[in-house]
Amino acid sequence: MSEDCIFCKIIAKEIPAEILYSDERVTAFRDIEPAAPVHILVIPNKHIPSMNEVEEEDEKLIGHLFTVAKKIAIEEGIAERGYRLTMNVGKEGGQVVFHLHLHLLGGKPLRVHKY
Ligand code: AMP
Repeated sequence: MSEDCIFCKIIAKEIPAEILYSDERVTAFRDIEPAAPVHILVIPNKHIPSMNEVEEEDEKLIGHLFTVAKKIAIEEGIAERGYRLTMNVGKEGGQVVFHLHLHLLGGKPLRVHKY
């Protein structure tokens, strides 16, 4: 737990969120400013600031984020239609909250970005 981290506070239930899934390793909740009809964040319970701080010992945890996201996509009814999983890393990657998180986006045709 990091004292001034908003996502750690959501995990600790110190601030409210619409939590859809949680286990001993990860928590998933709806994004407060959805960019698509389905916009869910899947985060590790362990405070890892970004992908840059991921260690080899975290590999299973990172894989678990993806399998939980897949299960939620099925529950949300968007698995067959398709969806997007993205992770922003660092300032130029568009990361604003420095607690690693996977965005699950879907429920409408998503624009294909040309970078
Ligand atoms: P990123 O730009 O990848 O760091 O994404 C951070 C995401 O966290 C944004 O999509 C925000 O809308 C979302 N967010 C920030 N604060 C909260 C919160 N209290 N509850 C849910 N989502 C949040």
